[in-house]
Amino acid sequence: MPFELPALPYPKDALEPYIDALTMEIHHGKHHQAYVTNLNNALPGSGAENLSIEEICKNISKFSAAIRNNGGGHYNHSLFWQIMAPNAGGIPSGEIADAINRDFGSFDKFKELFIQAGANRFGSGWAWLVVGNDGKLAVGSTPNQDNPLMDISDFKGTPILGMDVWEHAYYLKYQNRRPDYMNAFFNVINWKKVNDLFVSVKK
Ligand code: MN
Repeated sequence: MPFELPALPYPKDALEPYIDALTMEIHHGKHHQAYVTNLNNALPGSGAENLSIEEICKNISKFSAAIRNNGGGHYNHSLFWQIMAPNAGGIPSGEIADAINRDFGSFDKFKELFIQAGANRFGSGWAWLVVGNDGKLAVGSTPNQDNPLMDISDFKGTPILGMDVWEHAYYLKYQNRRPDYMNAFFNVINWKKVNDLFVSVKK
């Protein structure tokens, strides 16, 4: 039956000093919880009752704005908590590192493009690293709680890394300084998880 808020895979203060505990508490316990609650409230009679969150996203044009906004919010944040970790960041290794070098030229170039995608997203939204239908990595962004799985998205692919650039993700600590938050985010990227996702998408 209904969707549930996944537990954080680490304590709320584990990403300090890059992401502060109060932001994590409110972001996970209030914002993500609200997406889950509102998604569940929008499901009855929608035709999406028995679909996975991925299937809902892939067919999002068939559903209401409430399901688009809250289903996207649930999918996006569920991924977001997983692709961060304490004692993480740095330079990736493994297959994802090879693919980043292959498709962007270097890790530094990837980082530049990813941060640019977040900076250029006016208002609220997400920056993404995806595996495209051609098997190549690509960087882009989506507005609001849309994501690259959605059939209505201009930017498509299977997300393996997402960065929330809504103000609720950073305002308590960074206020209007989105670039400072985005640079700090690179200190908490769980590249092992991103690599696992990349390997599973390729199969
Ligand atoms: Mn958020």
